[in-house]
Amino acid sequence: MKENLNPFAIAQAQLDEAAAVLQLDPDMHAFLREPMREFHFTIPVRMDDGRTQTFKGFRVQYNDARGPAKGGIRFHPDETIDTVRALAAWMTWKTAVSDIPLGGGKGGVICNPRELSQGELERLSRGYMRNIARHIGITQDVPAPDVNTNPQIMAWMLDEYETLMGWHEPGVITGKPLPLGGSQGRTPATALGGLFTIREAARVKGMTLNDTTCAIQGYGNVGGNAHQLAAQFGLKVVAVSDEFGAIYNAHGLDPKVVSEHVRRTGKVINCPETEEISNSELLELPVEILIPAAIENQLTGQNADRVKAKIVAELANGPTTPEADNILNDKGVYIIPDFLCNAGGVIVSYFEMVQNGYQFYWDEGMVTERLDRKITTAFQAVDAMSLSKKVDTRVAAYLVAVDRVAEAVRLRGWV
Ligand code: GLU
Repeated sequence: MKENLNPFAIAQAQLDEAAAVLQLDPDMHAFLREPMREFHFTIPVRMDDGRTQTFKGFRVQYNDARGPAKGGIRFHPDETIDTVRALAAWMTWKTAVSDIPLGGGKGGVICNPRELSQGELERLSRGYMRNIARHIGITQDVPAPDVNTNPQIMAWMLDEYETLMGWHEPGVITGKPLPLGGSQGRTPATALGGLFTIREAARVKGMTLNDTTCAIQGYGNVGGNAHQLAAQFGLKVVAVSDEFGAIYNAHGLDPKVVSEHVRRTGKVINCPETEEISNSELLELPVEILIPAAIENQLTGQNADRVKAKIVAELANGPTTPEADNILNDKGVYIIPDFLCNAGGVIVSYFEMVQNGYQFYWDEGMVTERLDRKITTAFQAVDAMSLSKKVDTRVAAYLVAVDRVAEAVRLRGWV
């Protein structure tokens, strides 16, 4: 049978598996399987040539029982409402497993930002905010960056929101540039958080990280920063990729050389002293640690049996399908599940909201230390659950998260 790659069907199937282990009340299960609210809208954008192009936008507030919905906004040509629903569900489990007082949400726009000028991108970002401004806020829903969105886009969105409302409210969006109320350490936070979880997973596996080989799929904010920080954790990155191709050097890829090459050419391929390989070869390299840091459905029933890594650290959201999950677990691979591994971004977004709330800003050391403590505590809760219930790490992460969300739902008397 062909594998179902619909991300929302996958997110629901993962929840179903955890609900069975938890013996979750069926009414609660039914409630948690669906988003609480979603917004679908059109964004007319005046293009540079004078014509108007209409884009489709979404915002899903999956669950806000534990606090305001929280999650990024993606700009992607293949965006679908089901992708946004899945990502919003995963945000719900992510904030819960991290034990921060927030719910889960996600936004998306169907567009190809590579084809937009800066002016068009700004008008699209402002148009997105005009559509959702009345439905979001520091007590309702707080967006952030995600795939193809960045601090500049957050700045335009913040400005649009504050202009509409007529007051300052920096905490309405996170991942902002520092002068507009951003937090120190927010940009590398997802990558850094993932590296803390790799450190913990290695400890559990009895592995010493010292020039340990690693391959990273994706060279956006997450994959690129993971490469920059990897050596501090004893990792030797031998391969990286982006949507155009992958590069390899058995002696390790110098992060400064690669990032400078990407800055100049926009791609990782043709970087000096590297060999070009395909994206699928990267996933199957004989490395100790594999970091998928791009998009969903990269490890599937088709290629999972060829993965050689001992630890798969899911810095992307949804990179592994349920079929691949089974194959990797049978092979004894230690998977650090996405909504635990990549929680560093939203954890520091939460710190950003806290700093915005009392208008007092922390130094980077304080952010890093608190991030380490939060994500390490989450990792340990998941690992302990996996051992005590004899379930794989993804199911264990769901058990921890779903239990917390269900408790909040129950206390509110919704179910
Ligand atoms: N987009 C990031 C994620 O998927 C961060 C979300 C946030 O900071 O709200 O976790």
